[in-house]
Amino acid sequence: AGNLMKGKRGLVMGVANKNSIAWGIAQQLAAQGAELAFSYQGEELEKRVRPLVESLPGNPFMVTADVTDDASMDACFDALEKKWGKMDFLVHAIAFAGKDELQGSFTHNTTREGFKRAMDVSAFSFVDAAKRASALMPDGGAMVCLTYLGSERVVPNYNVMGVAKAALEASTRYIARDLGPHGIRVNAISAGPMRTLAMAGISGGRTLMKTGKDWSMLKEDTRMEGVAGSALYLLSDLGHSCTGEVLHVDAGFHAVGVPDIADEG
Ligand code: NAD
Repeated sequence: AGNLMKGKRGLVMGVANKNSIAWGIAQQLAAQGAELAFSYQGEELEKRVRPLVESLPGNPFMVTADVTDDASMDACFDALEKKWGKMDFLVHAIAFAGKDELQGSFTHNTTREGFKRAMDVSAFSFVDAAKRASALMPDGGAMVCLTYLGSERVVPNYNVMGVAKAALEASTRYIARDLGPHGIRVNAISAGPMRTLAMAGISGGRTLMKTGKDWSMLKEDTRMEGVAGSALYLLSDLGHSCTGEVLHVDAGFHAVGVPDIADEG
């Protein structure tokens, strides 16, 4: 425990269960004194999210928000404004693409509807949330979203989600420029593969996990501790001067050109 986030209030979007990256981040923020609000996708998730949230100190606030629904987003941010008046940070850990689209040929399996949906939930939602959250940040603030290397390189089966993540990362830079003059920093964390609900939707997810470890520089899985720690860094005052950045937290996997090869001598 520490006090890096003492006096800061923020919204965490995207807790579905105890394995969610958003939950890992929330725990580290709470341990550093942050005051938290949580948004969850819908009533079905409330059952799973409430016991987690209630295990945190300080009586965190919970509100439902479906990012594809303007009325739901309006209600979420209205509730936050009523409760807090202003806020200091935003965590966006939300993505979705249909199962049929997360396999096989990107070229052949991506429908117009699927493309729009992945973009809407996984990229536009950050633009929308950033607009709404920044309106409650008169004293400046910080925002992070979660992305993955499939935006920069071709990863089997990641397909339309890779395209959506490329849009999310580009959006991060544009938002960062717009909000920079208001003292708001905006960054993305590019996490290595982690065992979550979202990962379970990707065909070949187990192989992705294994390759992510075996080919990484550290020869280990990406740890929640590191992903959450990077969010803490970016959202606290330690992150001063860092904005518009995509920070890779993936055991070094992103920088490897060729995995280890057997000695030919
Ligand atoms: P997760 O399934 O726990 O979280 C995804 C969240 O998105 C869920 O809480 C879900 O309710 C929410 N969501 C989906 N559609 C929504 C909607 N319409 N409205 C509101 N919420 C909606 O999985 P996760 O792995 O923790 O994913 C969090 C973020 O991390 C995602 O952006 C994901 O792409 C990213 N990420 C994950 C990995 C990984 O390997 N798991 C790696 C890099 C980045």
